[in-house]
Amino acid sequence: MSDQPTPDSKDWTWVLDSVCDECRQDVRGLEPRLIAGLVRDSVPRFAAALRRPDACTRPSPKVWSPLEYCAHVGDMYEVMNQRLELIVGQEAPKFANWDQDEAALRSDYAAQSPRLVVERLRATAEAFAVTLGTLRGAQLERPGFRSNGSAFTAATLARYAWHDAAHHLHDIGA
Ligand SMILES: [Zn+2]
Repeated sequence: MSDQPTPDSKDWTWVLDSVCDECRQDVRGLEPRLIAGLVRDSVPRFAAALRRPDACTRPSPKVWSPLEYCAHVGDMYEVMNQRLELIVGQEAPKFANWDQDEAALRSDYAAQSPRLVVERLRATAEAFAVTLGTLRGAQLERPGFRSNGSAFTAATLARYAWHDAAHHLHDIGA
């Protein structure tokens, strides 16, 4: 396990209230329908990063390669889409825990094929964007809760998810 990045247990919910000082994203006030477009536009940027000669190389032992970041974002879009569907379909759902570091190990991101990673990212981004595009009016304020107690609405969950993708685009210089 010594060659794995340190698990990132940082709570990122503060990006909903302030500009991220690492990637400079300001997601405050972004509407889900706008985020749908940003999510779709992220796909060719991640795909371009995976065509680079260093796509499968970690820049340092504890930093994910572009391939691993792209595999993570493909999973993240899927998890966030499931959470949005729960928010819309249930009263104040509590989300199952998603351990991102465990998912990276279990799915062995580093061993995946870049072509399949892009295909999956494209599919999960599109599904997420479709759901984002359907949200209307009062649906945007429907609540949901992470297992650690963090409260989201459909709108803030969308912003949180977009920051994650944008931050990783920044991480890989895409
Ligand atoms: Zn950021």
